[in-house]
Amino acid sequence: MSVTSWLTSKVKNWQIKREMGYFYPESRPEKQIAYVFDINKCIACQTCTAACKTTWTSGKGQEVMFWNNVETKPYGGYPIKWDLNVLKKLDGQSWDEKEGIYNGKTVFEAAPQGERVLGWLPEEEDYSYPNIGEDECSDIIEKGSFFSGIHKAWMFYLARICNHCTYPACLAACPRKAIYKRKEDGIVLIDQSRCRGYRECVRACPYKKTFFNLVTRISEKCIGCYPLIERGEQPRCVQTCIGKIRLQGFLSKPDSPKNDNPIDFLVYVKKVALPLYPQFGLEPNVYYVPPVHVPKEFLHQMFGPGVDQAVETYKNAKNDKELLSAFLLFGSTDKIIRSFKTEGDYALGFDDKGEMIAKVPFKEPVHVRPYFDKKGETYRHNIP
Ligand code: SF4
Ligand code: SF4
Repeated sequence: MSVTSWLTSKVKNWQIKREMGYFYPESRPEKQIAYVFDINKCIACQTCTAACKTTWTSGKGQEVMFWNNVETKPYGGYPIKWDLNVLKKLDGQSWDEKEGIYNGKTVFEAAPQGERVLGWLPEEEDYSYPNIGEDECSDIIEKGSFFSGIHKAWMFYLARICNHCTYPACLAACPRKAIYKRKEDGIVLIDQSRCRGYRECVRACPYKKTFFNLVTRISEKCIGCYPLIERGEQPRCVQTCIGKIRLQGFLSKPDSPKNDNPIDFLVYVKKVALPLYPQFGLEPNVYYVPPVHVPKEFLHQMFGPGVDQAVETYKNAKNDKELLSAFLLFGSTDKIIRSFKTEGDYALGFDDKGEMIAKVPFKEPVHVRPYFDKKGETYRHNIP
């Protein structure tokens, strides 16, 4: 494939199963921060959003800045139409279905002459309605319409943070070299002292996860809660998730997956968690378990050709003890689980020193208390 001339480096992108052009040479971190989000379990309570907001973005100029947001698909989007706009620009997104190879161009390869990434810059107002489309499962309904036949309405909640991409578009686009990817854990950060507010990162990131602060006039983004990561704890959005849909850990390099690393296991081994819009070419590191009730065409565009298999694997999890173990460990501890195993009817999680930090039973014990409490001489209800 011919690529735009400024793409000086050929790098390997395992998600699209081919080499692609990028602005810098391939340089994978020792270990890559990564997340698995099980969309089937998200209830859009926005606890993650509030946890992130109150921790990191409660200052001036950050009023409508949400490093973590949860939008309702297909009608929601923050900023508005973040995905539709880039999908419309990126022509010819075609996959070799059998081999799982992406034949179209990535946002780097499709960049117009003189630009580093095929991007677009949202208007200020596009950020003002973070919950637009929430819980909407149908388009505008004409007066006089009525329902007949099979109900095809559907929706799901998509939780989004910065993907700490292996090939970040924000980093490639920054003319000041103010954005860098940490060697030790792959977290992507903005050096605020170098940033001059050109907004090239905001324009370039197809997921729109860098933000411009109108008061300080510099850019900001999710920092992966690195102070927590550095002491072996999962980020705030993961720790506080009510639905226990999130697991954060580290992804190994694609050629050396470890079976006992829960993130590797879900992503590389079972292939039940997939990247969001892999065709963009950034190798994003938030992996989603696709929602099983959504039309395949929609999921295919969003998560690539592996989606059918992922849905089948997920539906069969109840018969796969190891897979069930990995899922049971979601939300089981604040610490980062580096390895896991199944022992009897328990899923066990371990930290980097091999110490057990989580133990979850396959079946929760149920305790039914007597209706009449003799000691307290009172009646009570057993409320689960
Ligand atoms: S806290 Fe968890 S369940 Fe609630 S909206 Fe966020 S991701 Fe979804
Ligand atoms: S999601 Fe966007 S902001 Fe985050 S690393 Fe990737 S390109 Fe940069």
